[in-house]
Order: sequence, then structure tokens, then C-alpha cells
Amino acid sequence: MSSNSYKNLQNSHPCFGGQKNNAGRIHLPVSPGCNIACKFCDRTINDVDERPGVTSKILQPEECVEVLEKALKICPSIKVAGIAGPGDTLATDNAIRTFEIIKEKFPKLIKCMSTNGLLLNERAEELIKVGVDSLTVTVNAVDPEIESKLNSYIIYHGKKIEGIEAAEILIKNQLEGIKKIAKAGITIKVNTVLVPEINGNHIEEIAKTVKEAGASIYNIIPLIPQYQLKDCEAPTCPQIDEARTRASKYIDVFRHCQRCRADAVGIPGKSEYGDQIYQRRLRIK
Ligand code: SF4
Ligand code: SF4
Repeated sequence: MSSNSYKNLQNSHPCFGGQKNNAGRIHLPVSPGCNIACKFCDRTINDVDERPGVTSKILQPEECVEVLEKALKICPSIKVAGIAGPGDTLATDNAIRTFEIIKEKFPKLIKCMSTNGLLLNERAEELIKVGVDSLTVTVNAVDPEIESKLNSYIIYHGKKIEGIEAAEILIKNQLEGIKKIAKAGITIKVNTVLVPEINGNHIEEIAKTVKEAGASIYNIIPLIPQYQLKDCEAPTCPQIDEARTRASKYIDVFRHCQRCRADAVGIPGKSEYGDQIYQRRLRIK
């Protein structure tokens, strides 16, 4: 069982409230492929875009040792080793294999992972066993009709499933998975991508449902209009604020999301060492 309670993480994890203590994190981009098709997702390999789903390279689990040694030397504030893609962390075994290595070689680092949750229910025991401390699950709707407007299909046990049927499976597995992980004492954050015209009036329902399932903290991320949702409006600041306030009736709300890359390194919003660690080309800021 994880020894890192939500209370501990609020002091040591930048995405669970620890930002006031200048805690840093490194993202290890070891998970290439995805098993669902979010309509706003534009995964890409490049050195410049500052958003989720982007990395300069894909690492093999074994390569992470050298990367972590270098990162901890350059930025000793790093307390968290996170895996957030660029695809889904449970679609391959790479993330779990990486955590096995971290557990052995860097036992003090907090192990953090993000997933879309499609396979969370069936792989929960593996995450508990490897000692993941904090988990983020992206839940964009708890109503299959709404979810089907945000996601085109899932690939589930080798089969492509579309529409409402896909959404039903996804939501069921997310909520069952959250329950199992929470029961094991692992702290859970839920992310929701806010698309005002699709799930804008659904935020309270999501917040309430994931809290009941065992999540501790909720993060509303504004849509970046791209790919199939490129014509949707991004939420305005007052809309984001209102959604956060409504959600906070049910669950703690995280308000400092920086929409990090899948290979971000440093203290979110304060320092960024990814250029040095992953040898990205220098950018013109
Ligand atoms: Fe963990 Fe997500 Fe924060 Fe990365 S962005 S450290 S995966 S909660
Ligand atoms: Fe993209 Fe993440 Fe959705 Fe997969 S789960 S399609 S990586 S946004």
C-alpha cells in the first residue's frame, strides 16, 4: 500500500497542492500509444508545443535511470516521477515496468501516473503492487451520451468499439478502477477537459460521482480547440472559474494546472529543465 496519503502529497506533490512548497516533477515519456480516441487529442513528437500529448522523444523504461540521475542533479527539488503519456500509460506495459525500476533505484521518489482509465479496472492490482502513490484519471463525462461527443472510439481487448457503447465501457471501467485504487489508499486526482458546449453543464455531476468513487481532488482543464474539436470554443476564464466553484461543492479543486508536456521537468510554472534533460532544441521564447 502507498505510504503517501493525500495529506502528505499536499506538501510534496506539485499537482496535489504541493506547489506552495516548490516541489518539482519529471515526466518520463515512456507510453507511446493510446487505446481511446479523444476528439481533442493531437499527440505529436516535437520540441516546441507546450501542452499535454507532446514529447520530444519516447524513452524505453531502462533509459529512465540515466534521465532521472541527470534530472535530480540539475533540479534537486524533483520529488515526483510522473508518467503522463504521450499516449495511455496502461495501453502498454512500459509505465509499470518503469515504476518497477524507479521503486528499486529511486525509492524516495513519489510515483505518479495519469491514465484515461479504460484499463484501470483490470490493471488496478498491478498499480497497487508496484506502489504507485498518486494517480490521475481523466474523466470527461459520467453520462455516456456526453462522453460519446468527446470520444470517437475505444480499442478494447483488440476490438474497436464506437459511440455510446464505447462510452459506457469507458465510464464503467474508470469508476470501478477509481474505487479499487482508492480502496488501496492511493490518492486519486480526476482531470476533466472542459468543453463548455459539450460538458459545461455536466461538471457538478462528474465531481460528485468521482468523489463518491474515492477521488480526492479535481482538476478542470480548459479545452485547447484542436483536431476534431477545433471549432469548439475554448472556455473563457469566468467559465473556468464558475466550473471550478461548482465542482468545489463536492470535492477539493486544483487550480494551478499548467497543461504540461509529456516530457516536462521542473517546478510547474516556475522552472523548466526539459530542454537540458531531453536535449530539445533551444526554443525562441
Ligand atoms: Fe503526476 Fe499528472 Fe502532475 Fe505529471 S501532471 S506529476 S502525471 S499529476
Ligand atoms: Fe489523447 Fe490522452 Fe485521449 Fe489518449 S486518452 S486520445 S492520449 S487525450
